[in-house]
Amino acid sequence: MLNIAVCVKQVPDTEARLSVAADKTRIEEQGISFILNPYDEHAVEEAIRLKEKQGGTVTVFCLGPARAEEAIRTALAMGADKAVHLADAAFGGGDEGTAAAALEKAIAGKSFDLVLAGRLAIDDASGQVGARLAEKLGWPHVTAVTRLAVEGREAVANREIDGGSQVVAVTLPAVITAQRGLNQPRYPKIPDIMKARRKEVAKVTPADLGLSGGEVGGAGAKGKVAGLAPAPGRSAGKVIAGEPADAARKVVGLLRDEAKVI
Ligand SMILES: Cc1cc2nc3c(=O)[nH]c(=O)nc-3n(C[C@H](O)[C@H](O)[C@H](O)COP(=O)(O)OP(=O)(O)OC[C@H]3O[C@@H](n4cnc5c(N)ncnc54)[C@H](O)[C@@H]3O)c2cc1C
Repeated sequence: MLNIAVCVKQVPDTEARLSVAADKTRIEEQGISFILNPYDEHAVEEAIRLKEKQGGTVTVFCLGPARAEEAIRTALAMGADKAVHLADAAFGGGDEGTAAAALEKAIAGKSFDLVLAGRLAIDDASGQVGARLAEKLGWPHVTAVTRLAVEGREAVANREIDGGSQVVAVTLPAVITAQRGLNQPRYPKIPDIMKARRKEVAKVTPADLGLSGGEVGGAGAKGKVAGLAPAPGRSAGKVIAGEPADAARKVVGLLRDEAKVI
């Protein structure tokens, strides 16, 4: 039996056209759709597969505004059993440290054997929350895992490294973050989506976690986003017409004289 916690974040849809809000520190949320962070889908899938093999429970934890409940419902429709939503407005405006601190308070002491999270959230992409959470829990941590086997109290995790792979064995409880390739997340079926609508999502406030207002959200954050800018647009490409041999000569000339890369 494995009791597994999965940390999930709601992020802007990968298809969404993002723009920077007027205050230049965040994206404009008006008119964009949100999804369950793709790395977290792998984490949820892995947790459900482990539960299906070994029994136990899967509980998802999400810190985010009211709209994040949609991402929680996706995880429930995939097969998670329970959900905890850290949704209080006081959690807003926090950083990786306050997110990990709140998640730790929600997860610690609840007899979880394993925490699964994503390697990173595709929006802020700091890849810090899993590591910070493991540190706060005092549990071993393996990042960016592409294969996971759990037997008894041992988890054996494969990680891709430059030019090879690494196998790391840890004793449970542990925190593991999911890399793409870990599994193929399932598409929830319509009846499961309907069933997920009726599953209870526990709403938790800082006070429920024993945290004061000064420890969460913007008040507890140690840094602030000072600026956010879109990537510079790419200039239009050049079409070199003519015979292939002439065109190749022109391309080489442009690479040498204009782009100065050769
Ligand atoms: C100074 C500062 C101010 C910020 N202000 C705001 C703000 O006002 N509003 C806002 O929405 N965001 C804000 N953020 C971003 C927010 O705090 C980040 O979501 C958080 O820091 C997590 O970092 P990340 O997204 O880079 O996650 P990563 O560390 O890249 O995420 C790795 C994994 O950790 C887990 N995880 C990450 N975040 C959560 C979460 N919230 N709940 C559950 N699991 C999670 C997921 O499994 C995820 O795959 C701010 C960040 C900073 C640094």
